[in-house]
Amino acid sequence: MAELTVPDIPITPRVDLEPETTALVVVDMQNDFVSDGGALQVPDAQATVPAIADLLRRFRVAGARVVFTQDTHRDPDPEFAIWPRHAVEGTNGHAIVDDLHPLPDDVVLQKPRYDAFYGTPLDHLLRQWGIKTLVICGTVANICVHYTAASAALRWYDVVIPRDAVSALDPFDLAASLRQTTALFNGRVTARGADIALA
Ligand code: ZN
Repeated sequence: MAELTVPDIPITPRVDLEPETTALVVVDMQNDFVSDGGALQVPDAQATVPAIADLLRRFRVAGARVVFTQDTHRDPDPEFAIWPRHAVEGTNGHAIVDDLHPLPDDVVLQKPRYDAFYGTPLDHLLRQWGIKTLVICGTVANICVHYTAASAALRWYDVVIPRDAVSALDPFDLAASLRQTTALFNGRVTARGADIALA
């Protein structure tokens, strides 16, 4: 196949958001995806932990909503025909990594598929809270982050993705996903989580 050039992905230098109408969604930062020995480890995911931890800290200080998603499967799951067996309920691989552990005020949603809106009360909660904007981070950028961002955008939530807080197995897939976020969802991509301010 011909070599492809990745088109430029527009980067928004700074995004200012209101804590009352913004939620942070941390997607699938579970041992199976992040930690050494994980069933479906994304090698670059560990490097995103500091940026996600900083977002978590600042969202909590600002009193903004924090939602964690947790990929959740039970045997037999048809997803295991696509991917190695992963994120099985009750296993250590299913647990969110210690460095990003949810606090009591955070919401943890167990999701059965890539899209965090599918089969969960996420949309119900966001509407109840009056949320307009989702900052979405975690892994895998072109799978669960992407389908969650797509599903959010279809419901007309504003989507912001910090590039240093998402990870993927393949750089092409990551670039394609971020391009779709800016081009199709009218979402904003920042270089760093630190470029997102809550005031
Ligand atoms: Zn899964």
